[in-house]
Amino acid sequence: AHIFRSGWTGVNERTFIAVKPDGVQRRRVGEIVQRFEKKGFKLVGFKLMQASKELLREHYWEHRNRPFYNKLVSYMSSGPVVAMVWQGLDVVKTGRKMMGQTNPTNSLPGTFRGDFCVIMGKNVIHGSDSVESAQREISLWFKESELCEREGCSAKWIYE
Ligand code: UDP
Repeated sequence: AHIFRSGWTGVNERTFIAVKPDGVQRRRVGEIVQRFEKKGFKLVGFKLMQASKELLREHYWEHRNRPFYNKLVSYMSSGPVVAMVWQGLDVVKTGRKMMGQTNPTNSLPGTFRGDFCVIMGKNVIHGSDSVESAQREISLWFKESELCEREGCSAKWIYE
């Protein structure tokens, strides 16, 4: 497993982003990808998939005792999701800022949740909340062979 592979720091930091079923159905995939690209992050993993309840229960393991857990797993399995891995300097923290707060009511305009949705139970996008969660989630959703490591051609225009 690539879970604790070293080197996912600095400009090689990675995060797991998923467009949730409502985001896919409401055709927000393109804009979400576009904003991450525009910002300067590099796409290293991308797939449209129907997530199993088993995978989702594992993904949201930390919430297993919360009242919304079963509803959350149903919501996330109600249609296909787009699972992605994005790479770049501080991509975990910046990805969270681009997403907005868990509750769309508290999300500023300009964020995905601020712009695209109104309730927590259908909040369009997931993003890892720490580098450790990102490593765990990426290894849960992707095989190493599905991640395309490569030299980005624009790196010298994005970084010093
Ligand atoms: N959620 C919910 N009700 C709650 C809290 C969370 O439906 O009271 C859902 C919501 O879709 C959220 C997900 O559970 O995105 C995971 O919750 P978390 O606190 O990890 O928020 P996130 O990291 O997604 O902002």
